[in-house]
Amino acid sequence: MMISPKSLAFDIDGVLADTMTLFLDIAASEYQIRGISYEDITSYRLEDCLSLDSAIINRIITQILDGNYSVPLAPITGASEVLVRLGKQYGPVLFVTARPYTGPITDWIQQILLLKSHEFDIVATGAFEAKASALHERGITHFIDDRLETCFTLKTAGIEPIVFRQPWNRQKHPFLEVSSWQEIDAIISWQPDQTDTDEAAD
Ligand SMILES: [Mg+2]
Repeated sequence: MMISPKSLAFDIDGVLADTMTLFLDIAASEYQIRGISYEDITSYRLEDCLSLDSAIINRIITQILDGNYSVPLAPITGASEVLVRLGKQYGPVLFVTARPYTGPITDWIQQILLLKSHEFDIVATGAFEAKASALHERGITHFIDDRLETCFTLKTAGIEPIVFRQPWNRQKHPFLEVSSWQEIDAIISWQPDQTDTDEAAD
């Protein structure tokens, strides 16, 4: 299956941004909580898979939303290359997050993923269930997300979900699944880049 670049949009946390590693890094550096590995995060609801106090979990999540941390938030490997190309050839690329506000993530996309401000748009819905209408409004038919429940909700609402493989979405599902940005690259129906061709001809 090939997807038109104009009809594809992306979730942020767990798809472009390695937010769960950030969670673990904040837990270790600020709360001295160690010994939890990425693979231990087998549920999107952290209370269900980690033996951590929910007050601590919520505090760290608030820090993440507000950008109130000193360890870096890394991109998921390969995200920048694909998104920069999408942004330049077909931009603005649409990111739809269930975060209640964009907070530090707009700057992060510019500084770390290296997209220019006019090459992307972010919608912060504040609720997983609100993603489908945000996507419909912008003519998006396919959405890449790491939260399985959201994928099922999207499918019901007429958006084709694509699951970005993570330890917390290993339950059975009927959707297309990708496990890397290389695989995302491979399902996009890229048109030859006119700019590249012109430059190559110089
Ligand atoms: Mg996510």
